[in-house]
Amino acid sequence: MKYLELVNVYEALAGTAKRLEKTKHLSEFLKRTDKGEIQQVMLLLQGLVYPPWDERKLGVADRLVIKAINIASGIDSDKIEHEWKKTGDLGLVAENLMGKKKQVTLFSRELSVKDVFLNLRKLSEAEGQGSVDTKTKLIAELLSSSSPLEARYIIRTVLNDLRIGLGDGTIRDAIVWAFFGLEIGFELDKKGNLVTENRELYNQCVELVQSAYDMTNDFSKIAANGKEGLENIGIEIFEPIKVMLFPKAKGIQDAFETVGRPAAFEYKYDGFRMQIHKQEDKIIIFTRNLENVTAQFPEVVQFVRRNVAGHNFIIDGEAVGFDPKTGKYLPFQSISQRIKRKYDIDRMSKEFPVELNIFDVIMHDGKNLIKTPFQQRRWVLEKIVNPIEKKIILSKQIITDKDEEADKFYQEALKQGFEGIMGKSLDGIYKPGKRVGYGIKIKPTMESLDLVIVQAEWGEGKRSNWLTSYTVACQDDEGELIEIGKVGSGLKELDEEGLSFGQVTEMLKPLKTKEEGKTIFVRPKIIIEVVYEEIQKSTTYTSGFALRFPRILRLRDDKGLDEISTISQVQELYDMQKGKGNA
Ligand code: AMP
Repeated sequence: MKYLELVNVYEALAGTAKRLEKTKHLSEFLKRTDKGEIQQVMLLLQGLVYPPWDERKLGVADRLVIKAINIASGIDSDKIEHEWKKTGDLGLVAENLMGKKKQVTLFSRELSVKDVFLNLRKLSEAEGQGSVDTKTKLIAELLSSSSPLEARYIIRTVLNDLRIGLGDGTIRDAIVWAFFGLEIGFELDKKGNLVTENRELYNQCVELVQSAYDMTNDFSKIAANGKEGLENIGIEIFEPIKVMLFPKAKGIQDAFETVGRPAAFEYKYDGFRMQIHKQEDKIIIFTRNLENVTAQFPEVVQFVRRNVAGHNFIIDGEAVGFDPKTGKYLPFQSISQRIKRKYDIDRMSKEFPVELNIFDVIMHDGKNLIKTPFQQRRWVLEKIVNPIEKKIILSKQIITDKDEEADKFYQEALKQGFEGIMGKSLDGIYKPGKRVGYGIKIKPTMESLDLVIVQAEWGEGKRSNWLTSYTVACQDDEGELIEIGKVGSGLKELDEEGLSFGQVTEMLKPLKTKEEGKTIFVRPKIIIEVVYEEIQKSTTYTSGFALRFPRILRLRDDKGLDEISTISQVQELYDMQKGKGNA
């Protein structure tokens, strides 16, 4: 396939904000793509050359791209930078400048998808000395044989910024349409709405593709397997599956209603999720977001190697930090720095040690345990794990059908500083990704805060036209505004989906009082409701507090500035956390 054909699809996808239209373009394209090429095409559509969880990344810096454009076009780097400042998009710069190419290159042939794909793979494989030169040459080579429009997308791909607005949900639906469209017989009506005679069947097909995606996190594999291969897609060691997630219960009684009686209850450890894969001697640790963090946690690799029996397995657990002197568990933030750390790893593991709490097993010695009831999976864990305190343990668990017993366990957990407890259905399967009735978390409810935006920062890349990060403030007892954190998540990219960055940006722009670099200061007018995981003490903000994982819930344009949350409320909520007030 010519690369230009793929580029035309990028253009079509970028040309509409409507999800169903995108799905239609994509499904039609998938239908006409040869089986032999579909895997490469599917990855490139996502701006990838390996599945998203693969360690090998394109990872090319802006500077390197500027150099490559310079080599391919003969145009000065200064001029390239100047153009870049104007648009903020090196893809567009490459497109414009390659059109005015000074050097005459001889097109030996048109670029194919395969050419681009293989060159990009070489790019991600270049390492060590001389790799910058190699990478620059590879990109320049591609640019030299590309048309201006192709150049735009090549550059955007290497910079990991395709700007075609293609989410996982759309890709999944496009695969459903491509695989099952004829059987289900659905179409778009004149208004662009989806019409299907058999909604139930349609939903089943969506579920089938979603479940294959939950197991593989790789659309290219699903597309390559084709419709017939869909049912056979299963778990493979070293390919992370989506972890099982849990909704929140209102309380013990509500938890029993969801997971049934009797149920298992476990401490809810405040660390970070690790999905650990082992095959013979090799062990890989994936985070909840499918990042490979094996190198950062050599001690966890050791604990697992020595204390979990089996030739191959996938286990699920939570790594929790503790104070090496007192042995006391520490909140997640105390070890969060280890996740990205690339040097001094051994020192870090001594200063910020973790204990691995294992709570599930997904596969063991070739046996897929996804459909095995939870209680039996726990028995497998009890057999294969040799627990050692402060290294590797099984999550503390009780099984009960009594509210009082579960509640006692809950209070005990809070008193010891845990986040709460998890309730798990004894016969529940391991359901990747879904927040449905197989398990539930119980933790103290956090009240939301109403805060006012006082500063905002312009975003980067495809978000550069929006203000995407907002500094928010509460009020002190005199009504003075004091900052309590920065929040950006919770807003949508598309207006149709809810309160969006675009809308908030438009509200903030007229309120600007001053500008400093990427930050604008605004008059305190826009009040938002913010939820969060935890309130922490902090010296970063004038209130002396900060919010962990804050998320914007909605606009509170019904509230005045004097009604925003007060520092006393914040202090009260802080005291209530983690068993201080309500244990
Ligand atoms: P949350 O992050 O508040 O949605 O809570 C769910 C998370 O709690 C899971 O993703 C795990 O990382 C973590 N967790 C801690 N202890 C357990 C446990 N015993 N069972 C399952 N998940 C746990």
